[in-house]
Amino acid sequence: MTELPAPQAVPGCPCCAEFSDRLAATAPQTSAWSDVRVLRRRHHAADHSSATTTGGPT
Ligand SMILES: [Zn+2]
Repeated sequence: MTELPAPQAVPGCPCCAEFSDRLAATAPQTSAWSDVRVLRRRHHAADHSSATTTGGPT
């Protein structure tokens, strides 16, 4: 299996900060850790899908 690169936390986004904190507090390679990574990726896709644009449709 190929490990996808982790999305970068977006500065100023409280959700990204929370995911980073949760990942740091969770033991790597565990199911809980994987869950946080999935949720973070989903959050990025939903809220940061166009990272090069500022603002975007609201
Ligand atoms: Zn975010």
